[in-house]
Amino acid sequence: MALVNGEEFHHLVRVSRKRVGELIYLFDGTGKIYTARIVKIGGDSAECEIIEENFMRGELDVEIAVGQAILKSHERFEFALEKLTEIGVRQIIPILTERVIVSKNPKDISPNKIERWRKIILSACKQSNRAIIPELFEPIKFDEFVSLEKYEKKIIFHESEVENFNRIFLHDYIKSLRNVKSVLLAIGPEGGFSDGEVEKAIEFGFDVVSLGCRRLRSETASVVSAGVIAQFFISETKDSQVWKK
Ligand code: SAH
Repeated sequence: MALVNGEEFHHLVRVSRKRVGELIYLFDGTGKIYTARIVKIGGDSAECEIIEENFMRGELDVEIAVGQAILKSHERFEFALEKLTEIGVRQIIPILTERVIVSKNPKDISPNKIERWRKIILSACKQSNRAIIPELFEPIKFDEFVSLEKYEKKIIFHESEVENFNRIFLHDYIKSLRNVKSVLLAIGPEGGFSDGEVEKAIEFGFDVVSLGCRRLRSETASVVSAGVIAQFFISETKDSQVWKK
């Protein structure tokens, strides 16, 4: 038996107008999704009978983390959060780089703002049938970001007029991700990464990858790079389970 209360109860009964007897999906945010039937609706909670339990339904076989520079435009940054969640990214790391305009100091990003970001991620999660809620890191500085160690592959996306780094197109690079279990992506702010930052990332084991000769907006680059990599890992057997019911 599971009890739905609080905001989710409101959503279930007042917004989605579910009734006793109807089937719903419940998720615990850590990988499990349950098919459940509503058996009783009270004043502030609903009792549900669990019918089936699935593990990691709606999740990719690869752990994709995105370091997204904080953008001047709140809307564009929030767009990136929502879309990265839908795509299947596991961790989102807001980064403060040299050319980030809002601030250089993680402490300047208010807890209210981070709370708002969490809500956007949670609702995108529900909308997209994900079993795991992507982890939203506290904003960190670029130096701290590049030294994150747990990822097998690390990629910094960079476009610049000058061919000064040994860049490779994602199209060619992606083959090297076969069988990789975790990958960290870095996407710069409106003004891009500085050469110094790209050099630093290389020092820390990042590969420099290009998405082509068009200059994409930061949130577009974020969604395209994570999206293309996610598609590369979609396994037919696993993903088809999601749509069976
Ligand atoms: N450096 C640019 C614009 C940066 S675009 C300038 O000021 O002229 C913002 C971010 O999106 C970049 O830092 C990079 O991470 C990513 N990006 C945009 N277009 C890209 C491309 N064609 N290839 C790789 N990364 C790209």
